[in-house]
Formats: sequence, C-alpha cells, structure tokens
Amino acid sequence: MSEISMRQLMQERLPASARGLLNRVASLSEKTGMPVYVVGGFVRDLLLAIENLDIDIVVEGDGLRFARELAQELKAEVTPHSKFGTSVLHFKDGTHLDVATARREFYEEPSALPTVQPGTIREDMDRRDFTINSLAIKLEPDGNRPLLDFNQGQPDLADKIIRVLHENSFVDDPTRIFRAIRFEQRLGFHLSRETEAELVKALPIISKLSGHRLTNELVAILKEKQFTPYLRRMQELGVLVMVQSELSCNEKDFAVLERLEHQLRQPENQLSIGEADPVSVRLLATLWSLDSDAFESTLHRLDLKGQTGDKLRRDRSQCQAVLKQFGSADTLSALQIYDALSPGSVESVYWLLAITENESNESVQLAVERFYSSLRQAGELSLTGDDFIRMGLKPGPLFQRVFRELRRARLEGEISSREEEEKLVREKFHPDG
Ligand code: ATP
Repeated sequence: MSEISMRQLMQERLPASARGLLNRVASLSEKTGMPVYVVGGFVRDLLLAIENLDIDIVVEGDGLRFARELAQELKAEVTPHSKFGTSVLHFKDGTHLDVATARREFYEEPSALPTVQPGTIREDMDRRDFTINSLAIKLEPDGNRPLLDFNQGQPDLADKIIRVLHENSFVDDPTRIFRAIRFEQRLGFHLSRETEAELVKALPIISKLSGHRLTNELVAILKEKQFTPYLRRMQELGVLVMVQSELSCNEKDFAVLERLEHQLRQPENQLSIGEADPVSVRLLATLWSLDSDAFESTLHRLDLKGQTGDKLRRDRSQCQAVLKQFGSADTLSALQIYDALSPGSVESVYWLLAITENESNESVQLAVERFYSSLRQAGELSLTGDDFIRMGLKPGPLFQRVFRELRRARLEGEISSREEEEKLVREKFHPDG
C-alpha cells in the first residue's frame, strides 16, 4: 500500500481524536529529532478495518524522555519503566498510550525473558512475534504516514496467514504458541505450514514457562469473544496436554461448552441470574473433567493462588454438591433447593445449567428455575439478629435455628411479612411466648 493511501486509511478509519493524538506525537518527533512510529496490533487492525484504539508508539532514541515531554504537552500522567525503556501515558478520560524505545533482543535461554538493548525500528520489528504484528507506520511531521513492512506482513494479512519471523521463534518464547492460536482464531486466519510445524516442535518448551506467564496467555484467550474454537485448536495442536497432561476435551465437552457460550451471549435471560464473568466460568468449564488431584496440580501449575484459586475451588465443589444432591433426590423441598443454590456464584449456576441441559433428569434445571423465579426472593427475611435480641432472645446457636425456621416458613408460604415473622418467633422461640 502506498504512502498516500496509509494517510487516507487513517483519515477514513480513525476517529478525529486518534488522528489528533498521532499528529501531536508527529510534531514532537520533529521538535526532538527522534523518529517515531505507531506499531503492532494497531497497524494490523487499521489495515484490517477492525476498530482498535490501543496505540503503541515506538521511538528511535530516548523513549523515556520522549514520553515525559509528550506527557507534559498533553497534560497526561506518565508511568516510566526505566529498565525496559517503556512508559505509559494516562489521560484524564481514562485512555492510555504506550511509548517504548526501539530495541533489539537476545534470547540467551529458551522461554526466559530476553536481554534487551536500544536498537533501530527495523530491529524492533524483527523481534516481534508474527509478520502481521511487525508492521510500523512512521509518523512524519509533514503528515506523511509511510508504512514500513520489513517482514512481508502485508501479503500475509491479505492471505490471512499467521507466520513467525524466524525458525526459533516459539522456542525463544513459547507464549507465542498461545498468541498464534489467539490471532488465528480471532481473525479467522490460519498458521502457515512451516509455522504450524515450528509450533508443534516447540510444544515441550511450554513446560518451561512460568505459571504467571502461562496464565497471562490463557487468560487472554479466555477473554476473547468466543472460547470453544480456541480450546478446540489448543486440543488439536497438542497445546492443552502440555498445560496439564490430563487436560483433554471430547466432542461432548465441546457441545456443553457451546451451551455455556450461548448462555454467556444472552445474560438477560428470563431468570435474571445476572452476568457471569466469562473468564472464571470458562476456566471452571475447562478444568471440570479433571479429578481432584489433577485439578489441584493445574491450579498449582497456573500459579492460581489466593482469591482466584479459592473461587474456582468453591465454584467447583458447589456444582459437584448440587449435582450429587439433586441427581439422587426425587423431590426436593423448597428449603433444600434454597440451601443448595443460595451460596453459589452466578458462574456456578451458568455452569450447572450448561452441563445439565440435555439430561434426562431435569431436577437441576427445574430447581434453578424455581430458585430464581421465586425462592430467592421468597427466602429473604425481614428480621435480623438485632431484632431477635430486641425481642429478648439470647444470641447463640438458637439464632441459626430461628433463621432456619423463618426461612422454611417463608419458602413454604406460611408467612410473608415482618409482622408474621415476629409472631412466629414469639410463638415458637420466645421464652415467654
Ligand atoms: P491485542 O489486540 O490482543 O491487544 P496486540 O497485537 O496489540 O493484540 P499486545 O499483546 O498488546 O498485542 O502486543 C503488542 C505488540 O507487541 C504485538 O502486536 C507484537 O508486535 C508485540 N508482541 C507482544 N507479545 C509478543 C511476544 N511474546 N513476542 C514478540 N512480540 C510480541
């Protein structure tokens, strides 16, 4: 694509605010004498006509100084990371801009982080993951916007191909295995034959990735609009078993996952369950068929400590408990349903609905429906522990019994107001009642 057409493309496809920002960057480039480029995903998506306002700037020279001066001009806050020569500018409207010094990289050991040194824009493009992500547009002060394509990114964009820049790319950095699948599936592209072969060759190196880096990549995939095709591709290429040797999905699992995806796409369902967090429910789904040892070892491998790991564990055991209880019972009382479902998260309900949708035993589906359409609200009590004290009851284990009896009575329709709750407490629990 010629120089003038890149300018036109920006005119046609970018909002005025983004064009204005790039013009300001270009003026500062002239003032400081440092050549400046917009790079990476922004350029890829601009050429593909996909909206992306995540702007990455690369400076040939002192990127930290450039970022500081730009922040001053644009009245933005700047957070520098001196070690990497990168900065983030934070604007008042909540948007941000990444500014980096052009650099070259050396990988001294597979899967470890590289050693970086300042370099040229060409060297910076040559350290990138895929040809389609190694495009840069120079921001010239006169308004010219020449496209720099050192690695045949444009033809690959046109042919919808994901291609690494050199043979050892996946060995140097196995996070690129996940990135390759992510871009392939998101954009509807395919891996070039050589790239797929390189990817498969590098699979064992996934075991060297730290839990933190591995999880970052998986989370990026879990955040994409659709999840099933990504998981299917990870399974097909042999990536999934490298994350955890027992992780595997069959057609039935994919079908269940598709039902979950369907549910996630229409959160405003009739039952008003609320919106589930796609990342946590998809993770719950992916790890569901593992036995408890394999599940725990996966949490360990992924470094999922603290709240995230605890939530996954809780959701999983909540779902298992409901399935066990509801699967064997013929009839369930309102209180049993309430007790089983009220402590659960929205995510666990989504997953329960997805795994039980096609089952001959409909008890879980019916119970969830009953809980959300009436019991959840009916089980809410007006009285609190303070009210019990005011009514002369002694705090202690008795309170739990009172709450339970009130809830049962509410759920079975015996009482429906605060007055009736008070009457019941007085009659059944009050020392002088
Ligand atoms: P997304 O739309 O998912 O944000 P992106 O291309 O902007 O896609 P980022 O993760 O923000 O992806 O990375 C920005 C750029 O940095 C990429 O386009 C790519 O050129 C480069 N990059 C990111 N990760 C790697 C990596 N592991 N190896 C080499 N280059 C990378």
